[in-house]
Amino acid sequence: MQQPVRAYIGIGSNLDHPATQVRRAFAALNAIPACLCVAQSPLYRTAPVGGPPNQPDYINAVAALDTALAPEALLTALQAIETVQGRVRTAPWGPRTLDLDLLLYGEFTRADSWLTLPHPRLHQRAFVLYPLHDIAPTLTIPGRGQLSECLAQCPPLTMARLDSRN
Ligand code: ADP
Ligand code: MG
Repeated sequence: MQQPVRAYIGIGSNLDHPATQVRRAFAALNAIPACLCVAQSPLYRTAPVGGPPNQPDYINAVAALDTALAPEALLTALQAIETVQGRVRTAPWGPRTLDLDLLLYGEFTRADSWLTLPHPRLHQRAFVLYPLHDIAPTLTIPGRGQLSECLAQCPPLTMARLDSRN
């Protein structure tokens, strides 16, 4: 078995009790074979970015996983969790019960449409950068530099941290 690699997963939901969907996703990530969830960010309520008009707000978070799976196998496992939690693919960036994006897989880079690493929009999205910074403040994003620099330069977004009771 290969040495574990630290991967980061972006989690988003804006349908069917989004905060509950995100908490279920944390548990499901920890249950993927050969994966251990080593950190969970706080949950954030965020305004939708792109996609059809008048979508509900999102709940976003990020998880850190130590994984012995290859990146392709990890993405397949993430897509299976989306399906179990009722994801139906409609319009691009449309409303969804659960979106799981593989943000980073160690320092591995790869560019094709099925799997691009680092995630191609990671460095521009406040709803990813804030929770990622909460759990990995000193991270470097391959090809993009320091996470803290990306955070300082990304467009401000309407977002609020939820407390643990929401
Ligand atoms: P989005 O997350 O941008 O709203 P989807 O979740 O519908 O869109 O994903 C669209 C496609 O993006 C998927 O078919 C998947 O194969 C591809 N993809 C490419 N790179 C990644 C990545 N790093 N993480 C997740 N999906 C990715
Ligand atoms: Mg996705």
